[in-house]
Formats: sequence, C-alpha cells, structure tokens
Amino acid sequence: MPARPDLGPPPRLGYIASRIDRAAGLRGDDAALKKFGEAADAAGYVVGGDLVVLKAAVPVCDPLFAPAEARALGGIGETVLLGLLDGVPRFGFGVAAATAEQLKARDDLKVTDLRSIAVHGLVGPEHLPPLAEAKALLGWHARHRFCPNCGAATRPVQAGWRRDCPSCGAEHFPRTDPVVIMLALAGERCVLGRSRRFAPTMWSCLAGFAEPGEAIEEAVRREVLEEVGIACGRVKYFASQPWPFPSSIMIGCFAEARSDVIVVDRDELEGARWFEREEVAAMLKGQHPEGLTAPPPVAIAHHIMRSFVENGCDVLS
Ligand SMILES: [Zn+2]
Repeated sequence: MPARPDLGPPPRLGYIASRIDRAAGLRGDDAALKKFGEAADAAGYVVGGDLVVLKAAVPVCDPLFAPAEARALGGIGETVLLGLLDGVPRFGFGVAAATAEQLKARDDLKVTDLRSIAVHGLVGPEHLPPLAEAKALLGWHARHRFCPNCGAATRPVQAGWRRDCPSCGAEHFPRTDPVVIMLALAGERCVLGRSRRFAPTMWSCLAGFAEPGEAIEEAVRREVLEEVGIACGRVKYFASQPWPFPSSIMIGCFAEARSDVIVVDRDELEGARWFEREEVAAMLKGQHPEGLTAPPPVAIAHHIMRSFVENGCDVLS
C-alpha cells in the first residue's frame, strides 16, 4: 500500500471547533445575564433528555429559538448560558424528556436525537458544537437535582454552570467523563472490534472509560488488554472530541501492539480481529468486498482509522 494513499479531502469531525465564546467571567454577573436574557437577538437550543427540538425546514432545520419562542413550547426548566456568538447570547433551554417527546406530534418541529442530527446533517455543522455543549450541560442538570453530599435539593447558579446545595453549602460542577478510544496497531495491521450496539456491518476502534487514578496511557493499555487480550507499549495521543452521550470527552490515541493473539471479552464485544491497512482503507471508502463499514465521519473513530490508513505505523512516532 502506498505510504500516503489519497482518501480525498478530510471530512469534518463532529461537535468540535465551537465559535462560541463561553464568557465564563460573566456567569456570575447578574446585570450582564439580565441584559443577555432580554437581548433582541438572543437565541438558544432546546434539549429534552436525548432529544433536540428543531424548527422543521428543508434542506436543513433551524435549531435556534428566541427565548419567547422556547417558552411558548411549554415546560422550559433550566436555562443555561452557552456563551456569546459574535457578542450575541446563545442559551440552552432544557425541557423534560416527556415534553420533547410530545413535541414530536407538531408538524412545524423536527424532534430527534443529536446523533441522528449529526450523522444526517439535519442542521448546519456550526450548530453541532453548541448543541453538544447544551446537551451535556442540560443533561447534567437533569441528573443532578440533589446534593450527593447531604441529599438536599440543589439549585442552579452561575448561569447554569454550577449547582449549590442550600443545606450543606457544597458547590457542584458539571462533569465531563474521559473515554479513551484507541487503535492498537502493529506494522500494517490494526485491531478493530464490534459492539452489539453497532450497525451489523460496522467495525470500530476499541474504547472505554478512564478510571479514577489512571493516566490516559494506562487507561489505553488496560482497555486494550481487557477487551482483546493484546499487550500494548507506546501510546500516542491523536485528537479529542466532546461526546455528549451523555457527557464524555473522547480521547483518541494510537497504541503499539506488542502481542498478537486476540482474546475477545464477550461481555464487552461481539467480536474483534486484526484488519490489514488496505482493508481499513476499503471500509473508509465504502468499497469493502464484504460490505464492512467504518463509523461515520462525525465520530473520531473514523478519523483515527483514516490517519492510520494515511500514515501507517508512523502514527506512533
Ligand atoms: Zn448538600
């Protein structure tokens, strides 16, 4: 296989490259927040559980609602300040999952999950990063209504970026859970696995949560060893991606495989095997003879696999 095969222009990774200024310094500024809420051009994204509410349109939907439009949908709970886009406030408006579900009945709205929105390009790509921010943050609010320290009901402060406990005084911050996602490789081959949740033809990188007290490199080696029984040496960071399902950050890495025999953890994976670099190239191009496929370009796994196809084991250097 040529050293640098031509796969065409690189596709866009989803949820990254936000243009929003998070304006963290203004989150505690009540006067500024009041002004933002009343701004004529203020707008935001409506999220309920796994569902996002869009204004139905062709060819792409409009995901932005003015505050009054969002309130008119009914059932708005938390409102969070995502930040400023060219000085204009952008919010996340939280609704109950059941409310979002009910809004599916309206012809003027498109209510669907963020994965589908990203994979099918239902909104302009510039909306994916703030949608990820809104979904992760509003999802955190929905799941953290009570203080883990004393059990009392907490209340949102700092424009939605903290919840305080009025009983014990504890301050709670939105969490982001690190997930390592990696391609273990040796020479011209790499290891891909299949989860039972995947589409029937899809194979992807291995992945798992980093655990408390664990470095990223250690998490990569442990996950590969646990899932497929392969011992790894060198680990090289590739890139990362917010993954708001519900609140992860995917940390993409390459790992140098130092053993050969795959032993699949059947609790985690349906299958795993070695793939030749050329085979991965065919999957990315949609030309695999058995119809095997790679994850869509919106996901970092696609980009990790693509980098291996383009650069071979140089990805580890
Ligand atoms: Zn408390």
